[in-house]
Formats: sequence, structure tokens, C-alpha cells
Amino acid sequence: MAPVTVQAQSTYEFCNFWQYTWNDDPGNQDFLSHPGATFGNGPANHTWHNIWRDGQLLSSGYMDDSGCVETPAVAGDYIVRLYPAVSKDSTTFWIWSNDGESWEVFDATGTLPGLSSGTQTFTVWYGSNTGVGDMTAVAANANNRPEMGLVSGEHYKAYVDKNCPGTGNFSGCYSSDNGALYLGSHNGQRRIWTKHVVGHELGHMVSSHLAGGPQNGYYEADGCTDGYVWPDTCNQPQECQCNPHVVSSNGVHCLQSREYMNDAAQEGWAHFYATALFNDSTSPGSFTYYKEFDTYGGVIEPPMLNYVSRNISCALA
Ligand SMILES: [Zn+2]
Repeated sequence: MAPVTVQAQSTYEFCNFWQYTWNDDPGNQDFLSHPGATFGNGPANHTWHNIWRDGQLLSSGYMDDSGCVETPAVAGDYIVRLYPAVSKDSTTFWIWSNDGESWEVFDATGTLPGLSSGTQTFTVWYGSNTGVGDMTAVAANANNRPEMGLVSGEHYKAYVDKNCPGTGNFSGCYSSDNGALYLGSHNGQRRIWTKHVVGHELGHMVSSHLAGGPQNGYYEADGCTDGYVWPDTCNQPQECQCNPHVVSSNGVHCLQSREYMNDAAQEGWAHFYATALFNDSTSPGSFTYYKEFDTYGGVIEPPMLNYVSRNISCALA
């Protein structure tokens, strides 16, 4: 009888991470934290991947909780490609940076020698310094945490560097008309780099999927205009409105503006959601507010981190 040769199984394992960076990160959040102006890493869990060796497709699909995927450790030229598409429990979350909804893909490439036995693990990072990378890191994170409220079977979508439909130079929004999250720019500032704007607008999208709202807000309590016409007709005290001190973002509404109850509730929810998204649920939470805040002593510039205790009364007369 001829001798039987047993080929030892060998494996390449690729463990993939989305890199994100934020220009408002004060470094004090417990979750997704990283020092300012550096990259953080979030597992690319449930992210769509393709792996090719020498042009042959070896593996494709949404990854599991770990964001790792294995292939036989055969010598060749490898491409590991990630798409900004996340799915878990039949929930999908897709991200685009353009109108045409063509995928922006992220490749890692290398020539590997093969492995005779055992497993070799490669840690790979994607999306550094890109808005799509930031958004996909958040989507993968939120979709992997049931408490963040994404609904099984539903589809979520986000447009990066794309302004809200019909608003021109707006900062960011959830459009209930289009069912999409938009992270555009205002005065040249790109909202995808401000993590609590991302979390806030995602909060609006999640509440819309959960509870059917909000619909588009009506932020014109007491004669204050929609924030696009300055000076407006608002006769509120300065500490109860956004004009003229809010300039880094739209002045439609702000942390201290007097609003109708339904608008105030939906904005409060979105701030809460952003706080929950970036903080460990077992520790006190903090979030950075991203518009200017007027005090009796002057204007606090964003990002505003510390809670400002002021006895401001803006009750409806
Ligand atoms: Zn909002």
C-alpha cells in the first residue's frame, strides 16, 4: 500500500477594523475612545468583504461578530476588500459618498508565501481619514449592539459629504422624506468629522424606524425664523435662541432655543442617543455639543464639553 501523505491544514486569518477619527473628540468618552487627532479602531463586524488570491474569489459575504475571516494559507497575491455595508440579523446599513450609490471600496493587498501548518493572523485597518470609514465604524458598532435600537429586517442608509435634500448648505440631518441620514457640510465644515453630529442624526433615524418619527421639525416657536434669515424676527431673549451666536452650524435650532414640545423631545432624544452611542452604559455619559452656546458672560465655542449650569427661563408665555 502506498504511503498516505497527510497535508497539514494551514490558515490565513484576516482580522479587519474600520479606522475612524473625529475632530471634536475630547478623548473622554468610554466607548470608541482614542486620543484626539489619532485614529481609533472599531471591529469591522458584519461588514461585507471579498478576498481574492491571484484573481480568484476565495471568500465573500458579511463577516461575523469578530470581523475576522479565514482562508487556506496558500501562496499568492491577495486582495482583501471591504465595502461600507453592514448587516446583522437581516438588518442592513449601507453608506455612500455620492449620489450614484456606487460603492467606495477599501483594499488591503499583499503577496503571501503560504504556510505549511497552523494559523497566521493579520490585523488590517481600513478607511483611515475618510468620512465613509467614520460612518461605517459607527454603523458596524450600532448594528452590533441591540440596545442601540436598529430594527431587525429594516434597511438603513447614510450619505456622507452630501447635504440634506433641498436645504443647500445644511449641516446634517435625517430626512424622513428620503429615509436617509445625510452628513453634509456647513460653511465648509464637514459634519462627518463630528462624532456627536453623526450620533445625533443616527438617533433621529433610529427613532423614525422605531416609532415613525420625527417628521421634519418645525423650529419656529414664538416668531423665531428657521435660522436662514438673519436678523430674524425672533423676540426671545438672547439666551433662548440661536441667533446670532450660532455660526459654525445652522441656526435652525440649538441647545438653548425655545421650541415646541415635539421638536424639543426629538432633539433631546437625538442627543441622548449620541451620548449612548459613544459611552459605556455602565459609566456616566458625556457628549460634546457641536454648536455655540450663549451665556450671560459670552459665547462658548464648540465642541462644548462641560455642562453649563445656568438659570435660564425660556418657558412659553
Ligand atoms: Zn436633531
